Amino acid sequence: MTVKSLEDKPKVTALFPGSFNPFTIGHLDILVRGLNLFDRIVVGVGYNSQKEGEENIAGRVETIKKAVMNLPRVEVKPYHTLTVDFAAEIGASVILRGIRSVADFEYERNMAEANKKIGGIETVILTADPQLAYISSSLVRELENFGYDIGKFLPPTD
Ligand code: ADP
Repeated sequence: MTVKSLEDKPKVTALFPGSFNPFTIGHLDILVRGLNLFDRIVVGVGYNSQKEGEENIAGRVETIKKAVMNLPRVEVKPYHTLTVDFAAEIGASVILRGIRSVADFEYERNMAEANKKIGGIETVILTADPQLAYISSSLVRELENFGYDIGKFLPPTD
C-alpha cells in the first residue's frame, strides 16, 4: 500500500451511485455533505435489475438535475454498466454511499469490499442524519401508491 504526499494532492471526483427512485432529502443530505469532502461529485443513476425496470431513468436524471441545480460541482448522469466501470469512465477515485442502519452497513460493507477487489476503488460511507435515517425510496414509493403527499420527502425542484 502506498500513501501519496500532500504536495501532489489530486482533485478528487466521487461517484454517488444509486437507483434514486426517487431521489429523497436523505440522498440530498449525503450529497451536500460529500461536497465538503470532494472536489466534484457525479450522481450516477444506475439500473438496479433487482429493484425495478430501466424505463424511467432518463426522467429521473432530469428530476435530480433540477433538485441539485443550485449546488456547485455536481453532475448527474445515467449509467448501465458495473458501478466500478462507470467510476473509471468518469475519473472517480471514490464511491460515496450512505448508511441508515446495521442492515445498510452489512450491505454497504460487502459492496465496498467487492468494488475494492474488482475495481481497486475506495468507498467512503457517511452515516445518515438521524432525522432523515427513516427515509427510503421504497417508503416514499409506498406512500405515493397509497395517495399520500410525498412532497416533504423530496428536495424542492424549483
Ligand atoms: P441503491 O439502489 O444502490 O441501494 P439507493 O438509491 O436506495 O441506492 O440509495 C443510494 C445511497 O443512499 C445508498 O448508499 C443508501 O444507503 C443511501 N441512502 C438512502 N436513503 C438515505 C437516507 N435517508 N440517509 C442517508 N443515506 C441514504
